[in-house]
Amino acid sequence: MTPRMDALERGAVLFFAALHVAGCATSPLHEPAPPEAKVTQATSSAPATHAASAGSASSAPAAPAASADAASGAARRVDAEPASSSVSATGPSQGTPLSPAPGPLNVILITIDAMRADMPWAGYPRDIAPNLTALEKASVSYTRAYSVSSSTAMSFAGLLSGRYPSELERSGSFFSAHPDSVEFFPERLQRAGVRTVAAHAHFYFEKKAGFHQGFDAYRMVEGLSADNTTDKNVTSPQHLALAKELLGDEHLKKGPFFAWFHFMDAHDLYVSHPGIDFGKKPRDRYDGELRYLDGHLGELFAFIEKAPWASRTAVIVTADHGEAFGEHKMTRHGFELWEPLVHVPLFAKIPGLAPKRIDTPRSAIDLAPTILDLLGVPADASYQGQSLVAELAGTALPEERDVIVDLPRTGDNFRRRALVRGRYKLISHDDDFRLDLYDLGKDPGETRELRQAEPDVYRDMKRRYEERRQRIKDICPKRRDNLKGKRPEKPC
Ligand SMILES: [Zn+2]
Repeated sequence: MTPRMDALERGAVLFFAALHVAGCATSPLHEPAPPEAKVTQATSSAPATHAASAGSASSAPAAPAASADAASGAARRVDAEPASSSVSATGPSQGTPLSPAPGPLNVILITIDAMRADMPWAGYPRDIAPNLTALEKASVSYTRAYSVSSSTAMSFAGLLSGRYPSELERSGSFFSAHPDSVEFFPERLQRAGVRTVAAHAHFYFEKKAGFHQGFDAYRMVEGLSADNTTDKNVTSPQHLALAKELLGDEHLKKGPFFAWFHFMDAHDLYVSHPGIDFGKKPRDRYDGELRYLDGHLGELFAFIEKAPWASRTAVIVTADHGEAFGEHKMTRHGFELWEPLVHVPLFAKIPGLAPKRIDTPRSAIDLAPTILDLLGVPADASYQGQSLVAELAGTALPEERDVIVDLPRTGDNFRRRALVRGRYKLISHDDDFRLDLYDLGKDPGETRELRQAEPDVYRDMKRRYEERRQRIKDICPKRRDNLKGKRPEKPC
């Protein structure tokens, strides 16, 4: 088996009127932000400010510059607001809701493989994503969002099921297969009469993963080469064409619909593209891949803007995981839950909502109930997350909640779990054999373990972790004979 560090993925309405403000006669989108909300001037994402933040992160000497960049957005914001909700307006309207679109919303979910949190809108100095940056500027954006896990399979299984991957029936391999008995939220949408379409560009998304469940149209980019150690395919042009074809379907004019497109080109191998040259190092070439992908996303965003349903369609953007470039001696992703691997962008452009940034930690585990909520379909009682719609709309403040990141054992990786609350992060190693505490505010590079230095915080975080663990009903995967760290007395 390939060594850990080198191995990679082998293996609108807003309907919320009725839903969120029961008793409110008017749409919450017409209401100003609650007076008690902490609304501040836009957090600067100018490179100069960011550079200063990155400098402050230099207390993590082992971390390369990219790590400081990655964490500095979080660190700056954690420092500013360590334990309470924080909302900052980024648009000209300073957080005041715009006029809402009438009728139900459609939802387009655009996920980007391996997109780190340190994108230009978070202060990264290279102009690697102008179209995403423009969309983020028009969105409600989470500065401290976490993927459900650090690998594609586990992360999307959680996002789509609304439950943690450890709770799901699965094969037990790195590219986990999920049987029909696992319900993914598009199935609920489909049953409710919502048109569901998706297009994908990696062999894992073919039917083995189970992610096709609930989609009326589920298309794959043609001609993909299947390699479970890397991804050499360049797929943005074909993927864009498929997305346009699916979004151009006459059925969608009748609405409501849900569309999901997972773009792959930021995934390694980091292929060079003509006319884009940030350098030869891995991060340079990754940046080039993002710039290339972003050009195609710009075309997709323009297509969406011109569509007849544009004014009643929410666009949500996030990543399935981040990407490491030397932090903690790691490259690529999976296997661990360090910040560069799981801190990701998350933003939603929703008709009627003014742009703002929310600095409270949140997880993609919230997306299933959120997307269902936007489409007016009830969530399942088993969901571990909560709808974000009220805080997106500004009718509720984003309360501090514990974020869980969950990486079940497979034949390729040991189990890892993390709990993030405010500025602190607790990482569980190997079936809770050891819990490590980090202060992301002071130490965004996660280099100083604080179990002994901050015993009170450690006790509180451990208690919270144990409480959450009781609510995660681990089940063993189908294949158990080669699980890493297998111990008969421990959960799978
Ligand atoms: Zn991925």
